[in-house]
Amino acid sequence: MPPPRKLLPVSPKRIHLIQTPTPLHRLDQLSAHLGIDLWIKRDDLTGFALGGNKGRKLEYLMAEILDQGIQAVVTCGAAQSNFIRQLGAACSTQGIQCAAAVMAMPFDVEPPESNLNDALGGNLVLDRILGIDLRFYPNDTWETLYLHAEELAKEFEAKGYRTYRMPIGGSSPLGAYAFYQAAKELELTFDSIVFASSSGSTHTGLAYAFHSSATRVLGIACDPEPEITQDFALLARGLDEWIIDSPCLQADDYDLNFDYVGPGYGVPSQKGIEAIELVARMEGIFLDPIYSGKAFSGLLDLVSRGELQGRVLFWHTGGIPALFTHGD
Ligand SMILES: *Cc1c(COP(=O)(O)O)cnc(C)c1O
Repeated sequence: MPPPRKLLPVSPKRIHLIQTPTPLHRLDQLSAHLGIDLWIKRDDLTGFALGGNKGRKLEYLMAEILDQGIQAVVTCGAAQSNFIRQLGAACSTQGIQCAAAVMAMPFDVEPPESNLNDALGGNLVLDRILGIDLRFYPNDTWETLYLHAEELAKEFEAKGYRTYRMPIGGSSPLGAYAFYQAAKELELTFDSIVFASSSGSTHTGLAYAFHSSATRVLGIACDPEPEITQDFALLARGLDEWIIDSPCLQADDYDLNFDYVGPGYGVPSQKGIEAIELVARMEGIFLDPIYSGKAFSGLLDLVSRGELQGRVLFWHTGGIPALFTHGD
């Protein structure tokens, strides 16, 4: 008997939030400097809520939220979360309440050493303009932060709001699907695509888009925990549902490099700061200290070791408001 035919998947719905395609262009100065053919994908320029990769995910996530008649969206994250900013903007444009449980610096087991524990400004200014209901908690583990988010969701439900629990960073299979689609905007083929990877939907979407090609999809980790690819694999299971002939990627299939995290999640690294200065001075483009700067420091190091060659794409994931944070 032939195997049961897979039902044709239904594509997820999408609303319009960002301007696509985002610009794709060559970095001439840096290409000459590094001796590679270096390009950049400008998701810092989505035209929505000061840019960033989360706008793509939100086009799909908000469609689901509107479909479900949701009245309040509850999430959590670091106080300087780029996702919370973009989520808050997406919710307010759709007339939906947005609340988030936040800590200045949530951690896995031990807090990283840092003098930035109470970083003010940056995204917090924008969150306030957007009217996001931010609830601050003392620094603790991510697990504790998730519990606070659940309490907050229950609080909204008790008030009678139909409430949506938004996963951290918008990393649900829908977020990954957004990046699977984003890959179609590239009009050139690349030997490698390099980007900052954290909650995994950017990585999962791109890894699916290029799995059967010669293009290497290389995430530079911004979180130190190597088990994180187990979470990525969960996103992959969801993505399998929507993709005909899905590659069914497993945790071990992810090309994720942990060498450039620096002192920890949310703490700038010296190499990352140097990368920010180099790209700003050679190209007039700003990277951020928590994600894209670290990712670019990885790109620079891997190029210098001869591990990245040919035509390389750096996918800029945004995060620029973090440049304007300041401690006490
Ligand atoms: C969230 C974020 C990332 C990581 O994207 P994920 O899909 O969560 O892995 C990278 N860069 C910036 C600037 C971000 O805000």
